[in-house]
Amino acid sequence: MTALPSLLAAALLLLSFGCAAKSPQAAMTDPLRQTAAPRPAAAPRPAAAVLSLPDEVWAGEPFLAKVQAPGLTRAVVSWRQKSLAATPGTGSQPEDSALFLLPVPQKEEASSLPLSLSLTFADGRRETLTASLPVRRRVQPEQRLTVADRYVRLTPAQLARVKEEQREVREVLARVSPVRLWRLPLLRPVPGKVTSVYGLRRFFNGQERSPHRGIDFAAARGDPVPACADGIAVLIGEHYYGGGTVILDHGLGVFSLYLHLSGFAVSRGQTVRRGQIIGFAGDTGRVTGPHLHLSLAVQGELVDAAPCLEGMGNLSETEERPGRGAPEKSQSPAGGKGEAL
Ligand SMILES: [Zn+2]
Repeated sequence: MTALPSLLAAALLLLSFGCAAKSPQAAMTDPLRQTAAPRPAAAPRPAAAVLSLPDEVWAGEPFLAKVQAPGLTRAVVSWRQKSLAATPGTGSQPEDSALFLLPVPQKEEASSLPLSLSLTFADGRRETLTASLPVRRRVQPEQRLTVADRYVRLTPAQLARVKEEQREVREVLARVSPVRLWRLPLLRPVPGKVTSVYGLRRFFNGQERSPHRGIDFAAARGDPVPACADGIAVLIGEHYYGGGTVILDHGLGVFSLYLHLSGFAVSRGQTVRRGQIIGFAGDTGRVTGPHLHLSLAVQGELVDAAPCLEGMGNLSETEERPGRGAPEKSQSPAGGKGEAL
């Protein structure tokens, strides 16, 4: 698994406040620049907001947007026609800051995407920050699998079941709980090596099917599976493809999904803590053997969890720079996704 440092080197953006500063003279009076350089203590101007973003984003991956400003009471981010509101000081949001995990769908075709943030402050001030993020893409490796024929050729009844399960999952993942419970990095749920990366183009019994929307970890039947972050169990079920399935809601549109479980250790509606056992690895559903499939859903999009996982990715919510451990090598036959298109 490669997690490119370029994604993670969060760029400190100098921002436009409502209308962008165009001329060099105007830039000199940018409130952020004034804040960056120490000013006399008598200056009455409130400290400006600082937005941290990656300098580019990758199709199929989540990224972190962080805004920090003294007196910040509410931040609303607009990204891909969706708005998401955060309240500093609630859940895992620090005071005076708001962190958002945002998705770039694997199928995203735009060369860049706009992001805007509307900020409200304790003194009633409002500000809008805007940025444009270039979107990059990777070559997706392929995987060929042989599974029982019933997973490739569905009867009408099986097809109806699959469609109903997909509808239920989509509905769950579209919800947005207003309080952020997740923290980065997410806990890697099992220590086993990665056997299939996110984004693999998959051929089942020679036929191309939907790409892999999660990470497979080697695990034995019965291995305990912990929650990757604090959350609430919002779906527990036996699905046709996913087998024993648990979905945890971590707030602000972030969910983790655990598939092919042989047993459950939580019930629907239960609050769980990071590291708490939520179930046991298995080989239920459409599998070639026991393993754990982990998916990450962000604002309804299944994105690669690897950048968020402890020891695998480098998405961090502190100022700390990458270096939590060497990125894991892909186990995929095509050698991973290191190349950019
Ligand atoms: Zn999988």
